[in-house]
Amino acid sequence: MAEILVVAGQRDGVLHPATLEAVAAARTVKTGGDSLAVVIISADPDGLAGALSVEGVDEVITVKAGSNDFQPELVEAVVVALAQAREPSLIATAHSVDAWSFAPSAAVMLGSGFASDVLALKSEGSDLIATRAGYAEKVLVDLEFPGRETTLLTIRTNVFEPAGGSSMPKLTAMDAPACETSLNHLGWKEPADAGGIDIPGSDFILSIGRGVSDEGNVEQFLELADEMGATLGCSRPVADNGWLAKARQVGQSGQLAANCRLYIAMGISGSVQHQWGMKHIENIVAVNTDPEASIFSIARYGIVGDMFEIAEELENHF
Ligand SMILES: Cc1cc2nc3c(=O)[nH]c(=O)nc-3n(C[C@H](O)[C@H](O)[C@H](O)COP(=O)(O)OP(=O)(O)OC[C@H]3O[C@@H](n4cnc5c(N)ncnc54)[C@H](O)[C@@H]3O)c2cc1C
Repeated sequence: MAEILVVAGQRDGVLHPATLEAVAAARTVKTGGDSLAVVIISADPDGLAGALSVEGVDEVITVKAGSNDFQPELVEAVVVALAQAREPSLIATAHSVDAWSFAPSAAVMLGSGFASDVLALKSEGSDLIATRAGYAEKVLVDLEFPGRETTLLTIRTNVFEPAGGSSMPKLTAMDAPACETSLNHLGWKEPADAGGIDIPGSDFILSIGRGVSDEGNVEQFLELADEMGATLGCSRPVADNGWLAKARQVGQSGQLAANCRLYIAMGISGSVQHQWGMKHIENIVAVNTDPEASIFSIARYGIVGDMFEIAEELENHF
């Protein structure tokens, strides 16, 4: 029987939703005899135990902290103490800005296996295999951790369906370990003003890529999107050039088109980074002059053609 430990995250006392994705990821390698514990550190950890009582969770470990401010040294000390006491085969946590500040150092202190931004995991016999992207997302790499009793993984968000259902986990209170903190939390940065642009909330997105060629050509697509009732999105080069606001960028370093049902991609090649934000959409229409463009491999409808000509056709219909 192996133990699996998931490290929960919270902001201002509210459970970070990606915690339930990390639980879902951990569940994929949980077998009948294994036990899955989630540790939560906050000013009122008991108040979050209910949200963590999802299917597959056998134990919730609560650690009462002096405040809800994120304290990396405290999280690191808790993870190290629990790992030393329980020797879990797997420690999983969401790949978040919080995890970056405690997970690698905890792995070093434990001498454990480590992989960040993990997209998939499986076990083969007693071996754990984690999949992550490499070479700027150009390839997928399967990692093994030979000789490591424990492996710590940070799990990419928006990949695993958050764990749901319910369970009656055992509640265990753990004293916060004494630790020196060198950080003074001043507050959280306000999210950048998106100027009313809501890519995650839009159900219809018309998106343009480098095929638009020139800043002077962008306005007609803003107008077209407006006429069609769509939100104008873009690929990263368009945002990087300053032709459209960053809030319109779809993809890994931009926005996830979470609620989109129709996505028209014009002059976008379909890089993995762009696909990250839109490949889940059921109705993708791709317009590209290159019949070999990767975007066609995920499109429901593909038009090999010039985006300006297609835009003109569309304008005639709206
Ligand atoms: C860490 C990292 C994060 C990244 N994050 C993102 C991200 O969030 N979002 C993102 O988009 N990219 C992201 N990128 C960049 C990504 O790798 C690609 O460079 C980018 O997506 C390419 O944008 P594009 O498809 O518009 O341009 P290109 O790849 O240059 O494609 C332009 C396409 O337009 C077609 N075309 C040209 N003229 C026309 C025309 N007249 N009509 C029709 N088609 C035409 C061409 O055939 C070509 O397929 C990221 C990269 C890295 C390394």
